[in-house]
Amino acid sequence: MDFKLYNTLTKSKEIFKPISENGVRIYSCGPTVYKNATIGNMRTNIFQDILRRVLRYNGYQIQHAMNITDVGHLVSDGDEGEDKMLKSAREEHKSPMQIAEYYTKLFFDDLKDLNIETPEIVCKATDHIKEMLEYVKKLIENGYAYETSTAIYFDVSKLDRYPVLTNIDVENQKAGARVEVDQEKRNPYDFALWIKAPENHLMKWDSPWGLSYPGWHIECSAMGQKYLGEQFDIHTGGIDLIPTHHENEIAQSKGSCGKIPANYWMHGEYLLINGGKMSKSLGNVYLIKDIKEKGYDPIVYKLFSYSCHYRNKLNFTWEGIDAASKSLERLRTSYQNHLNGKDELTKADREKLNLAEENFHKAINDDLNMPLAMSFVWEVARLEKKNVEVAKLLAKFDSVLGVKIDKIIDKEEIPEEIMEIVEQRKEARKNRDFQKSDELRDELLKRGYTVKDTKEEMIVEKC
Ligand code: AMP
Ligand code: ZN
Repeated sequence: MDFKLYNTLTKSKEIFKPISENGVRIYSCGPTVYKNATIGNMRTNIFQDILRRVLRYNGYQIQHAMNITDVGHLVSDGDEGEDKMLKSAREEHKSPMQIAEYYTKLFFDDLKDLNIETPEIVCKATDHIKEMLEYVKKLIENGYAYETSTAIYFDVSKLDRYPVLTNIDVENQKAGARVEVDQEKRNPYDFALWIKAPENHLMKWDSPWGLSYPGWHIECSAMGQKYLGEQFDIHTGGIDLIPTHHENEIAQSKGSCGKIPANYWMHGEYLLINGGKMSKSLGNVYLIKDIKEKGYDPIVYKLFSYSCHYRNKLNFTWEGIDAASKSLERLRTSYQNHLNGKDELTKADREKLNLAEENFHKAINDDLNMPLAMSFVWEVARLEKKNVEVAKLLAKFDSVLGVKIDKIIDKEEIPEEIMEIVEQRKEARKNRDFQKSDELRDELLKRGYTVKDTKEEMIVEKC
């Protein structure tokens, strides 16, 4: 079956062809560990996790590298402002290393909560200063970089084409639309590869240009090349990385070895909050921790994110989370019902299952179309006959969804006497005694419980 992915480089959906049959090599731009990862950051991590899982579903082995940015990412994504790590260290009265350790741990806690797989290779920028320095030296040797009194810059005018992912009109920008910081820069779009450290700068290393520190983009080029080679299969990140970080990674790689580092460039769209941006001033920056504190299983957020294709904007609302929470409970309940079911499946049932399985596969292979894939998951979950084969298919789907479908819902919260009434009501409905069934429903309501009848089950919830 064809496996198609949208490639930002060609702006089209392409049939995926790996470089080698031995495994698919992926590089993902990871977090800058200067503050908590938000649910927006996590949306990008969920998209990357789905990509891994779908590749595996298609039988591919994976070699996936993700960096941890702990130096060089300035407050603007360009060459302006303070290093984000230093700003945080100053504000929190800690050392940059303490900041990095603290937020890296929280980031991985979030991944665990969301059942997101850890990439095979996790690499920290500050552990790769040597590789980055070598990379910059090579760019100078190849004639793509030059020194000013403040930094080593990449000279974009030396490239045959810049940019390649976007259509920014570099020529017109030369008229001065972009604010210039360093007057010694040859071209407005030249970017810093290495920055000379001011006197009191906390993070700095010895280099041929004195005490200095790396720019943000060089870390991904150096670590990508070290762990995945000069050219690998897929490069991922959030959509905001396209115009600066990813353009500049491509520029660096072309300057270093003449190649675009990845064949497929994939970008996840943004998460919005109530239709707008997440921002501190609006008080709407949410973390996975906030979802947990409201009593939800964090995986609910993962299921919520499947309601939207990764290339579309997703709007976060607490109503949406509440609906996803009920869906997760329903999905897990129906998995258990099938697992314990003893109904015989007919030929027609089996045909239905096979078709749903094929449709699910087609949907995930169509550029990771999770909303469509979920419709086939529900088709299978809702099958009236309860049978272990259905549970097995749901578990297979869960190798992609990663929502822990086999997690047993804690039923203890519903007291025994309530469950007794529920059982009596089930019996009444089986006997088509609807009057008694309604009376028992009222009784449940009086005791603070609602009951919802779906085609396959009765869902009891506290009011
Ligand atoms: P950062 O830690 O800021 O370097 O961002 C890490 C990743 O999260 C990048 O790939 C960003 O594109 C992504 N990201 C940041 N904010 C959002 C958001 N609101 N929605 C989706 N992805 C985001
Ligand atoms: Zn990167």
